[in-house]
Amino acid sequence: MKLTKIVATIGPASDSEEMIAKLIEQGVNVFRFNFKHNTKTWHDQRIKLVKKVSHRLGVPVGTLIDLQGPEIRVRLDRDQIAVHRGQKIEFGTPAFTVSHPQILPQLKTGQIFLADDGYLHFTLHRKGNALWLESHHKGILKNNKSFNIPDTHLDLPILSARDFDGIELANNNEMSFIALSFVRSAKDIEALRREMRKRHLQSRIIAKIENSRAIANLDKIIAASDGVMVARGDLGVELPMEQVPYYQKIIIAKTVAVGKPVITATQMLQTMVDQAQPTRAEVSDVANATYDLSDAVMLSGETAAGRHPLAAVQTMAKTVSYNECRFSHDTRRRFAYRLDSLADTICEAAYDLYLSLQKRSVKIAGFLVFTHSGQTAATVARYRPVVPVYGFVPNLQISQRLSLHFGVMPFIQTRALVKAEVTRKEVQDAVQILLNKQLIKKGDALIVVHGDYWTVKGGTSTVKLLVV
Ligand code: ATP
Ligand code: MG
Repeated sequence: MKLTKIVATIGPASDSEEMIAKLIEQGVNVFRFNFKHNTKTWHDQRIKLVKKVSHRLGVPVGTLIDLQGPEIRVRLDRDQIAVHRGQKIEFGTPAFTVSHPQILPQLKTGQIFLADDGYLHFTLHRKGNALWLESHHKGILKNNKSFNIPDTHLDLPILSARDFDGIELANNNEMSFIALSFVRSAKDIEALRREMRKRHLQSRIIAKIENSRAIANLDKIIAASDGVMVARGDLGVELPMEQVPYYQKIIIAKTVAVGKPVITATQMLQTMVDQAQPTRAEVSDVANATYDLSDAVMLSGETAAGRHPLAAVQTMAKTVSYNECRFSHDTRRRFAYRLDSLADTICEAAYDLYLSLQKRSVKIAGFLVFTHSGQTAATVARYRPVVPVYGFVPNLQISQRLSLHFGVMPFIQTRALVKAEVTRKEVQDAVQILLNKQLIKKGDALIVVHGDYWTVKGGTSTVKLLVV
């Protein structure tokens, strides 16, 4: 049983129906569509394919679209160019420019550009309106790669023209998550939310934390969004690289405390893009992300464009499932959980019950949670009990959303919409489903959490111990 969730980026290396099925079977919970690459049609077809396979396998899988936002990218008129040290390349021309050419007039001589997550460095030179980039290195500059100008505050709209196509895709396909790159403040999240509200779009917003402005506004960004991604690729270019592990822990701790999902991302098994084996350091990085108590760990190039997408997911799944349950301690010593409602207090009581039973060596098979919005399951999961949280929810959308939360295994109970009271029979039926799926057996202890009625928001009122 794997509690930590896996997000896998889909790309040319992983977009067949067969491969998607295998990736889900090996433990992928959410597929990420990086909308900075490829065409709208390509994404549309693969989003539908993921949904189809997920339905066929009967496994809830979330879909996440990653929008570019005010993130600057290389724009070449060809796939790539070779550059050498000291070379001055004409810049701001149709042959070589950036995704947001409106920034060109603001650029100044001496500014440093870091391409492809810092793989190539350039210095900008300006003479009137003419611009050149002088390369510090020899290498291959590829089209569409990241282009950072650290410590430069360019005034760009939060959503690029293409992002509106991404929002439309998310809307047409009822995608579970919209991740927004280069969020600078809570205002950026609110701007996206406004666009979504206009379209009655229900997706959850994931804020990608990847520069110093986001770090400075972290608390407000976490409060405004529905989840967070530690986007270490750009974060390690925008900040000195050695600061990334520190901020990883800070971002995770703050997000877990409020019960929103947090994803640790980028280069986790980078070697596996080419090699069948990861490095020990990479396996250690994945394991340490679970010790930090991430909800999810993510694969990017490893599954999108790598040679071993399946092996990468297998390695990740094995690594998290071994390490995530090694230590069990009261996480209240680590995280500043807030109790904002009676429902939150009930969830904490459920966790207290779990801890005290554990102390008496009573084995708990899991939590059984009845939740209308998914919130109760997320709140129980934020304490990180190392057993599954079986979440019974009313619809597919909420089950897909919960697929990103640590330890939550969602089940759809359509009756929840019509039959409002959570009765004894309701609980028995749920237990029967878990028995049928062989997730639990006779004699197992479950901690049940629910309200009197399914449909009352914040109505969670009951914790009880049930021996099957
Ligand atoms: P980000 O900084 O948002 O992670 P990225 O450019 O680093 O963006 P990844 O998602 O990390 O991209 O994926 C790694 C590489 O895989 C990309 O640089 C691109 O070459 C390739 N890739 C990803 N998604 C696609 C896609 N949908 N179609 C084609 N290639 C893709
Ligand atoms: Mg990247």
